[in-house]
Amino acid sequence: MSDYSGRIARLQAAMQAEGIALTLLAGTDQMRYLTGWREGGHERFVGLFVPAAGDPAFVVPKMNAPQACETPAGIAQVFGWEDHTGWQDDVEPLLKGWGIGKDSTILVDDELLSIHLLNLQALCPGTAFKPAGDIMASLRQIKTEAELAAMQRAADMIDAIYEESLGWLREGITELEFHELILAAIKREGSRPSFPPLICFGANAALPHHHTGAATLKKGDVVIIDIGCIWENYASDITRTVAFGEPGDPDAKHVYRVVSAAHLAARGFGRPGVSGEATDATARKVIIDAGYGDYFVHRTGHGIGLSTHEPPYIVQGNAEPLQSGMCFSVEPGIYLPGRFGVRIENIVTVTPDGIRSLDADAPTELRIVPVV
Ligand code: ZN
Ligand code: ZN
Ligand code: ZN
Repeated sequence: MSDYSGRIARLQAAMQAEGIALTLLAGTDQMRYLTGWREGGHERFVGLFVPAAGDPAFVVPKMNAPQACETPAGIAQVFGWEDHTGWQDDVEPLLKGWGIGKDSTILVDDELLSIHLLNLQALCPGTAFKPAGDIMASLRQIKTEAELAAMQRAADMIDAIYEESLGWLREGITELEFHELILAAIKREGSRPSFPPLICFGANAALPHHHTGAATLKKGDVVIIDIGCIWENYASDITRTVAFGEPGDPDAKHVYRVVSAAHLAARGFGRPGVSGEATDATARKVIIDAGYGDYFVHRTGHGIGLSTHEPPYIVQGNAEPLQSGMCFSVEPGIYLPGRFGVRIENIVTVTPDGIRSLDADAPTELRIVPVV
């Protein structure tokens, strides 16, 4: 579905415009975006070198060379290095051939292991190294119709699994048991999770990144369900907050209404030309005005696509204007320590005149799941 040679050509054009000699991507989603293939390699070096002009080259462990030869991008230059020799002997002549010297700038994948970067720097002393994150984001954050279609399918899938999952809430079930049922449903749909399901019962919902554990569900608990899946390598990610029976905490319904209003305010505000930080501020203002500003302890959202978290970030300090085709989460929350928390998260895409949600809307009032 993807035009890999077009993506590589757009990267090279951007590199030329910025005077970048070479970009090195590790076996991450950056590599997958350009070639259709990613390979962590564990501690081993896996690299895609893209010069400002000419053909890219893979330098990979020899055992991965057959895979590198067969990526959808059709990269013709593949160097397989062996465990007993190391990778530097393959890279040194490439750098020489591309004319890398003291005046050159090399962009490096933000997720390249630092040991590999240190070894690369030793091969070309004096060369400037910068993170590749920004230039890759400029390509990746605007989604094509085909990418949006995959993301919509992933969103529809996780929305349906969420609706189904409410029927599995029953007194005494543990967070981990519920998490296993979510994983099984994702697998049944021919998908895989985009991140481990985050399930929080009762006071655990007051921790935005609680680790799903052995807590059991009790009548009156607030429940946070934060789940996502993958379709054609593209991720979905939603959060819903419900109560299992009438909520035990007298403020749960009110706090839910505040978070819902903040979520909808950000969605009503976002459009091409406004910034990520102004969108964050719009959601945050609703929560501050309601007196809960100190309890909204994270940014309003993160971009999403091949990676579950990627640019653009909807956060104070991101003055970049939103553009049509960007996709990100809108996920304000309020977390009251020792009591409960509420988060509502949809994935949205920026349209020419506003924002469209890929996920079905959450209710504006706290949903009460009947106790069984
Ligand atoms: Zn998170
Ligand atoms: Zn998210
Ligand atoms: Zn999430």
